Amino acid sequence: MNNQAGVPLFDLQGQFSELQNEIQQAVARVLASGQVILGPEVTALEAEIAAYCGASHGIGCGSGTEALSLALHCMEIGPGDEVILPTFTFFATAGSVARTGAKPIFVDIDPITYNLDPHAVQAKITSRTRAIMAVHLYGQCADMASLWRISERHGVPIIEDGAQSLGAAYQGKPCGSLGAIGCLSFYPTKNLGSYGDAGMVVTSDPAWAERIACLRVHGMQPRYYHKYLGWNARMDAVQACMLRIKLPHLERWIGMRQEAGRRYDSLIEQYRLTQVFSRPTRMPDCRHTFNQYVVRVADDQRDNMVKYLKHEGIGCEVYYPLPLHLQECLLHLGHKEGEFPVAEAACKSVLALPIFPEITAAQQEKVVRTCAAFYSRNAARRAA
Ligand SMILES: *Cc1c(COP(=O)(O)O)cnc(C)c1O
Repeated sequence: MNNQAGVPLFDLQGQFSELQNEIQQAVARVLASGQVILGPEVTALEAEIAAYCGASHGIGCGSGTEALSLALHCMEIGPGDEVILPTFTFFATAGSVARTGAKPIFVDIDPITYNLDPHAVQAKITSRTRAIMAVHLYGQCADMASLWRISERHGVPIIEDGAQSLGAAYQGKPCGSLGAIGCLSFYPTKNLGSYGDAGMVVTSDPAWAERIACLRVHGMQPRYYHKYLGWNARMDAVQACMLRIKLPHLERWIGMRQEAGRRYDSLIEQYRLTQVFSRPTRMPDCRHTFNQYVVRVADDQRDNMVKYLKHEGIGCEVYYPLPLHLQECLLHLGHKEGEFPVAEAACKSVLALPIFPEITAAQQEKVVRTCAAFYSRNAARRAA
């Protein structure tokens, strides 16, 4: 790495230093209260997040992965059932399905949005389909109008994997209220990031909300009488109190991410990279929250670009290098390379550039300048 200051992929310190006093006071209050798991802080956060998502109930849990598992178990999905999901997403979307004993039914993605392709979803509906997992990747919602039509026609509920998209909206409706159940993550790198693991399920169905809240505590109701086969999926009060300090700032931070997204767009143009970098597309019906700013690198140069950026101290990441249908632990499903060509091509070309609300114009310029330097170096080598 060179000596000049690099640019991190994300920066958790910025928000912490902004809110340090409030966060420390809230944590001290929770520790002094002795109520460190669930309790009033978690209940308050549940109400605040549910309201933000336009849902009537929130159920705080240990992680986004737990939220997905709670949603699937609430719907009593298990062996013999099928759940449709994109092959291009974080592993947890598929892992949570497979771990219920149901079969993950992969579909390909849309090449522009990287979200699941509704035509492919329609083609995979069978009498065993129990749910469709609408993953909203990178901060932009899936094509919900098409998914709603399929869901209605076949009576199959939609579970939103909104782990990357809290604050996103589709036709003005917030992520979390676009399906039967919404699943959120507060993993530190998400748009509302905690200082540890945490997640939440949101829904407007009171019966499901009650069942999920019960599943989260070993299916226990009353104490030591177990109605459902639940497990421990509880949320820590310390995480909840810190998230409550951060939540009132989320809209402003999303605005800063969107501004950073626009700035990358114009820098990429300014440095004449539009032929080799395709920039993220904002769909007309969507509010994109830029949890990630992902470009597509042309001509099989992505991996060389990653090496060069890392060497120059620029944080970057590939979400995701291998589609889920080709993951070792899912090979028993019998999928082959070539089956989902759009997702497989995305795995070879996508690149996430550093983005976080506090990123400066100078940092962004440095990122794009370094990308441009990669190409001029290549051109010079070819000329030599
Ligand atoms: C982060 C993420 C999850 C899992 O959330 P955790 O809180 O890390 O368990 C699930 N799905 C997607 C799409 C994610 O990005």
